[in-house]
Amino acid sequence: MTDEDLKVVFAHLRTLKPVRHLVDNAEPPTPCKLCGNRHGLGERN
Ligand SMILES: [Zn+2]
Repeated sequence: MTDEDLKVVFAHLRTLKPVRHLVDNAEPPTPCKLCGNRHGLGERN
């Protein structure tokens, strides 16, 4: 796995927490201020 892959995995893990966090890898990656990573729908967080 690459570092980018790990970031995506961690972003997904965070979605399991009871916090509003949108992640959709079907969408183009955008900066997410909630987790500090880039992933689909990141700009909507
Ligand atoms: Zn995020």
